[in-house]
Amino acid sequence: MTTVIDGKAVAADIREQLTNSVETLSGEGETPTLATVLMGNDPASETYVSMKHRDCEELGIEARDVRIDGDAPADELFEAVENLNADPAVNGVLVQMPVPDHVDKQAVLQSIDPEKDVDGFHPENVGRLVAGDARYKPCTPHGIQKLFESIDLDPAGKDVVVVGRSDIVGKPMANLLIQKEDGGNATVTVCHSRTEDLAAKTQAADVVVAAAGVPELIDGSMLSEGVVVIDVGVNRVDADTEKGYELVGDVEYESAAEKASAITPVPGGVGPMTRAMLLYNTVKATSRQEGIPVDLP
Ligand code: NAD
Repeated sequence: MTTVIDGKAVAADIREQLTNSVETLSGEGETPTLATVLMGNDPASETYVSMKHRDCEELGIEARDVRIDGDAPADELFEAVENLNADPAVNGVLVQMPVPDHVDKQAVLQSIDPEKDVDGFHPENVGRLVAGDARYKPCTPHGIQKLFESIDLDPAGKDVVVVGRSDIVGKPMANLLIQKEDGGNATVTVCHSRTEDLAAKTQAADVVVAAAGVPELIDGSMLSEGVVVIDVGVNRVDADTEKGYELVGDVEYESAAEKASAITPVPGGVGPMTRAMLLYNTVKATSRQEGIPVDLP
């Protein structure tokens, strides 16, 4: 029997628990506030930002929506971030990526106050995570740790193959999994575009986390019996649908599900978790900044 890991349900549970903490903070006059900054009008980014705002609203978190013209000088973006850093009513700041080409992405990440960096991408927060003292865990890998918990999977001693080495998924996932702490202690192999014989690596894994952004890169023939499969990929492929495309993961679901003991669907697996963990970090940031302890799920 293959368990289909229900990310929507796990995320709903986390959101419900966070609601109580938001009420505690709001009751003390410190309503959590998240500011998003979007430069340009990339349609996918617009969708992501509006989803984040909707999620906040549902929980009673206040959301600020800062928009900057895509052709504006980079300084306009830095000024906006500086203002949000300095505003005591704002607890979390995130700049929606990607930023336009004329803006230095690293400089943007470094411009955010690390205490308000709810994405966890500031070098100080990356360093703290690697050092085993994370302030804000990046949302997608943190959400995946919660999915492991939901199926009682302790990664300790397991062979985990992470496919992808991006700064937002692959690297922090690997770093969290090797920590000497709950949810860590795994033996981790990180594969990427230069890996020779990916199948040999994934076949030897107890757990595969696929985050390559390549539609259906991994199929059942590359997996061993009983493997746990976490599919992070969200890829648009042309299809005969109303929108003209459909979303597929990095895993070929049907053949992988035949081998797996547990697998996440796309959509409805990792995506809802990423969204829930941003709310988690925003609540955590507010609690830290205001010195009001709250329960975190
Ligand atoms: P990215 O493009 O920044 O990184 C992809 C990584 O995959 C790279 O490190 C690359 O080396 C590796 N890779 C590419 N081709 C490969 C191959 N053939 N074999 C092995 N490795 C290969 O992507 P990302 O931002 O990490 O996102 C990865 C996927 O996850 C995308 O589909 C993205 O849309 C999705 N994503 C989903 C969520 C979510 O919440 N569900 C969050 C973030 C990203």
